[in-house]
Amino acid sequence: MRLVFLGAPGVGKGTQAEMASAKLAISKISTGDLLRDGVAKKTSLGLEAKQYMDQGTLVPDDVVIRLVEEKIGSAECEKGFILDGFPRTVLQADSLLGILQKHRWDLDRVMYFVLPRDEVIRRLSGRRSCSKCPAVYHVDYVPPRRDGVCDECGAVLVQRSDDKKETVESRLRVYEEQTSPLIAYYKEKRLLAELDGTGRVEEVQERLLALLPRA
Ligand code: AMP
Repeated sequence: MRLVFLGAPGVGKGTQAEMASAKLAISKISTGDLLRDGVAKKTSLGLEAKQYMDQGTLVPDDVVIRLVEEKIGSAECEKGFILDGFPRTVLQADSLLGILQKHRWDLDRVMYFVLPRDEVIRRLSGRRSCSKCPAVYHVDYVPPRRDGVCDECGAVLVQRSDDKKETVESRLRVYEEQTSPLIAYYKEKRLLAELDGTGRVEEVQERLLALLPRA
């Protein structure tokens, strides 16, 4: 199964991709996570990406495309994958087609997460991420057992710098301008499935699994 999760920042793509990839036993490729990892390790890619991420703008297409191409070609992705946060531009979507063609693979479905803007902002402003592992929480909706501490590994929880109010506005604008044209792009290819992103994490996951093509 090869899936793309599409939608504005904060709609729950990452959380749902994490759950669905475990359930379907396929890989999750999150370009945001890969880039943040590069930033944390101060790789040359990370250092280049950081300036864009801090401003809430997109990292240049060629950088993320190279990253995804490498990942898709790795053994862990042979059984399938969920792309979370990629593609984000039409050029990235065209490149993805090319990468898949090289492997003689098709995309099975594009899940388009739909959520009202005020709820997106509530989710982003309350989001807290573990400073060590990939776990993500929300101060109201998915609180950790101990305030500010990760349930999984005990490390301290932090707010992503790009989840701060000033940057959120810019990320949402960038989404509208550069990423939302992909809705029509994938609709035309008859790959788009619209997913209601409201409600509890488990409810959304149930709806999502029901929308997947039968294996
Ligand atoms: P995310 O965790 O998906 O919200 O991504 C965080 C930030 O990483 C974005 O605001 C961008 O600066 C960068 N980023 C992630 N994925 C992409 C992509 N496909 N294209 C360009 N920039 C990206």
